[in-house]
Amino acid sequence: MYYNDFNGLKISALGFGALRLPMVEGEKNKIDREKGQIILDAALKSGINFIDTAYTYLGGDSEKFLGEALKKYPRDSYYLSTKFYARHGVTIKEAFEIECERLQTDHIDFYLLHSLDEDFIEDYMDQETIDYLLELKRTGRVSFIGFSTHATPDVLERFLDHFDGFDMAIMQLNYVDWTLLHAKEQYELLTKHNIPVWVMEPLKGGRLATLNEKAEKILKEYDPDASLASWGMRFLQGLENVKTVMSGMNDVSQVEDNAKTFAERKPLSEEEYEVLMKAKEAFLEEMGVPCSACRYCCDTCPEELNIPLLIQGYNEFKISGTTWKLPNFEKAKGAEHCVACGECLKHCPQNIDIPSIMEEFAGLLKK
Ligand code: SF4
Ligand code: SF4
Repeated sequence: MYYNDFNGLKISALGFGALRLPMVEGEKNKIDREKGQIILDAALKSGINFIDTAYTYLGGDSEKFLGEALKKYPRDSYYLSTKFYARHGVTIKEAFEIECERLQTDHIDFYLLHSLDEDFIEDYMDQETIDYLLELKRTGRVSFIGFSTHATPDVLERFLDHFDGFDMAIMQLNYVDWTLLHAKEQYELLTKHNIPVWVMEPLKGGRLATLNEKAEKILKEYDPDASLASWGMRFLQGLENVKTVMSGMNDVSQVEDNAKTFAERKPLSEEEYEVLMKAKEAFLEEMGVPCSACRYCCDTCPEELNIPLLIQGYNEFKISGTTWKLPNFEKAKGAEHCVACGECLKHCPQNIDIPSIMEEFAGLLKK
């Protein structure tokens, strides 16, 4: 395992995300303690020293499990990160105390605001919340403060213009979302504000660990021994402002494969980068529509549909089977409102068959 320097600490380049742990069959939000312990032990043995959870993960059982499972390790042998989620019926002060109790500690290394987006920006810009974070840091109950984000670049910019005294941020970043979900702009904004980046969803919820046949063939022909996951991880190793890549590993073989990739920092060479981009194109050819979000189509739509947002939702749904991580998507007028008038077709420089996409997407969401 290699480590990155962060304010004098050595943080493992691979972190452990405690969201995708094995569950007790048939029970909601109950982690299988025995299996979970084996995975966590393997992670710590591999050299991982950064563990991330949140108030809401697995209905609170993620924090409770970690509190129990980490007891056998000295408190200074790992760094603990957890988060406050606004509008969950508790204030940040109450949440922090509950989280310390669940985690069986009086000190949190990294304390974060959870999942910044348009809906939560006002909650997280609230002065009392920010003051409380700063107080936690001043009194030493927390070492570093941060936030995790699913925000669009404009919302993130508004947030950072209001307050940017954070020590770190966690964002969704992988070689597909780099362009598909505007991760590049978000990464650059955080870098501009001198905020180091921790990565979540490095493999897009595991989807980039399997890809599709055509993309896999491209990568395997170039390097038969490299796992598909390792390509995604090495893409991230090339980003200077990334401190730790967090992965939600739910079996020991994943821990081992990831630990192998993070044994040393080995960013992609230029040639490898080109190969990966070719594989990404092959993946998106099948899984995604190449909308450039130019919005030329939008003004002519009689239903005033936010067509690029819907196409983004369509892509996301095809790749990950969900749309919940897309900012603003839930509130937007849905694809089922398309009346197939074809007006948009006259304006799309990418020749995207928008009405067909809308019809297919509406059908997929109905299922
Ligand atoms: S085909 Fe659908 S999306 Fe395109 S302009 Fe007409 S209603 Fe809007
Ligand atoms: S015109 Fe085409 S490329 Fe531009 S936003 Fe609309 S669908 Fe996307």
